[in-house]
Amino acid sequence: MARPRPTGPSRARRKPAREPGSLAEYRRKRRFEVTPEPAPKSAPGPAAHRFVIQKHDATRLHYDFRLEVDGVLKSWAVPKGPSLNPADKRLAMQTEDHPLEYADFEGVIPEGEYGAGPVIVWDRGAFTPEGPASAAEQIERGELKFSLQGEKLRGGFVLVKIRGRDTKGRPWLLIKHRDAAADPEWKIEEHDGSVISGRTLKQVEEGAPQAGAPAARAAAPVAEIEGARKANMPASLRPMLATLVEKPFSDPDWMFEIKWDGVRSLAWVRDGKLTLRSRNGLDITRQYPEFAELPRRISARTAILDGEIVALEEKGVSKFERLQPRMHVR
Ligand code: MN
Repeated sequence: MARPRPTGPSRARRKPAREPGSLAEYRRKRRFEVTPEPAPKSAPGPAAHRFVIQKHDATRLHYDFRLEVDGVLKSWAVPKGPSLNPADKRLAMQTEDHPLEYADFEGVIPEGEYGAGPVIVWDRGAFTPEGPASAAEQIERGELKFSLQGEKLRGGFVLVKIRGRDTKGRPWLLIKHRDAAADPEWKIEEHDGSVISGRTLKQVEEGAPQAGAPAARAAAPVAEIEGARKANMPASLRPMLATLVEKPFSDPDWMFEIKWDGVRSLAWVRDGKLTLRSRNGLDITRQYPEFAELPRRISARTAILDGEIVALEEKGVSKFERLQPRMHVR
């Protein structure tokens, strides 16, 4: 059998294309043929800055606080977890950068592997660095100011590096700014559970099915839904659009909803895969990677969802400008 001739060790050991060099330690600590954690693979994507906080019951319980910076997840282990109380100064030990794929990881790291134990996605959303310096520059300087738009955490925070003689480990403090989202009464125990599946660490460890998974909730037979009839999935659909009228009106035959300032979209779900289409039928899936898990959030294998993609500012008002950077993503 003919084999291609090896062209030298540098070629054989080359990392996947454009993998950020700072992921070497993450890769070194793990055996990807054993652990269900993701191997780094993607090049840095054009997505907005994301953040994720994973609750992880390893040797000690902690929360892994991760911010997307320059194509990797900058990571800190926070033993007591984050807090919305500005009086709490949470120790945050900087750990190795993780690949972006890790943001969706929820599951059990097997016994004997690095960080063995269950992991849930405790919170996630978008993070915005504050001030003119980039997040990378602020981290380099040892003080990063940012705001979070998560499902549990919101508002301004600061991560400050603790400087001292002890150079072992990389200790920082995570502190909430005093702002509208601050809450002196906030307790982390009252905000447990995965934002993806609703499960606790214990349920993940015991292999409980995700809430809303097809196995957990059986779909109603077609015959039981009034007016329903069996048909093939339509290949294309145009969403029903609003019509301008002279005056507001009230009518019991009508439903009224908020006019969100966003992007109308139809979401096509097929066997776990998602395609987002604009009102003109264009594929806009790549612009909004946050929706990749939508198929797992509904209890149907096949579905078309009609909705509006919006970006909310701190007060919950939709801001079209916040979506504009996404519209040029290809
Ligand atoms: Mn961890």
